[in-house]
Amino acid sequence: MTKRLKIAIQSKGRLAEESLDLLQACGIKFRRSKDKLFWYGENFPLDVIRLRDDDIPQVMNAGVCELGIVGENVAAEVRYELEKLGKSVEFELLEALGFGRCRLSIAAPEGGVFETLASLNGKTIATSYPYILSAFLKDNDVQANVVELKGSVEIAPSLGVADAIADLVSTGSTLVAHRLAELDVMLQSEAGLYQSMCEKTVEQQELIDRLLLRIRGYQSAQASKYVMLHAPKNKIDAITAILPGVETPTLMNLEHDEERVALHAVCKEGVFWGHLEELKEAGASAILVLPVEKMLG
Ligand code: ATP
Ligand code: ZN
Repeated sequence: MTKRLKIAIQSKGRLAEESLDLLQACGIKFRRSKDKLFWYGENFPLDVIRLRDDDIPQVMNAGVCELGIVGENVAAEVRYELEKLGKSVEFELLEALGFGRCRLSIAAPEGGVFETLASLNGKTIATSYPYILSAFLKDNDVQANVVELKGSVEIAPSLGVADAIADLVSTGSTLVAHRLAELDVMLQSEAGLYQSMCEKTVEQQELIDRLLLRIRGYQSAQASKYVMLHAPKNKIDAITAILPGVETPTLMNLEHDEERVALHAVCKEGVFWGHLEELKEAGASAILVLPVEKMLG
């Protein structure tokens, strides 16, 4: 009976560091194998296998790893590919992780003749995501030739390889640098924790639940702030209403002050400067906002 879990994460690239940081933020300490391909959890039975991101859905599909962290774009591409080949998809999203945000967009040379999706009928589009692109074109009734390129997709139009591209965009600066304009967004993406649908032991399922609880705790702690302030007693309700994501604050008496109390609360949503200004206007003073390190339950 296997009592350990295996998780596949990207070995190097845009998701590598944050994937590992997330596992470490869950309190897991790792010992590295000599080749650094495997990392063994020392205080939690979770072992990390480091791969190219494109291979992560596959190892979950084959049941080699119970878990994986990969962009939704890669997971979707592999899912479409497996479906097209008539193979079963054996992985599913457990939790969106909020990093590696990007979108998969269609773009064409700026100021050119292609300004709508329909204008790409009969044209050639280069991409590293042929299955997502083909499905998108089909849904939108556009007949275009899809050319698969593994990298440097953005230079395809200037090389004369394609009329347009479908590629990942985050800030859009790469598109601007190559004088390309975005025509349409096919998919919004962020990194996700996926699980293999392969059979798991009871112990493994319990470990996944524990890990997920820690990940969710870490995520809500990151978004949360601990706010302390002084509030006039007759303004407590108005001040509480301004605090984002607070149900019941803690109130404490202030020595030698009959008019005011100390109010402490965990804000479960972002606290911004605008909130602080509103609090001050509502009569709050001595406002302190502190980060929350860990949170459970
Ligand atoms: P590998 O060597 O593992 O195959 P890669 O070159 O395919 O790496 P990266 O460029 O490291 O991949 O990107 C990994 C993931 O990061 C992407 O699949 C996507 O989910 C996410 N990402 C976020 N922003 C961007 C962006 N601007 N360009 C590309 N990927 C992005
Ligand atoms: Zn890749």
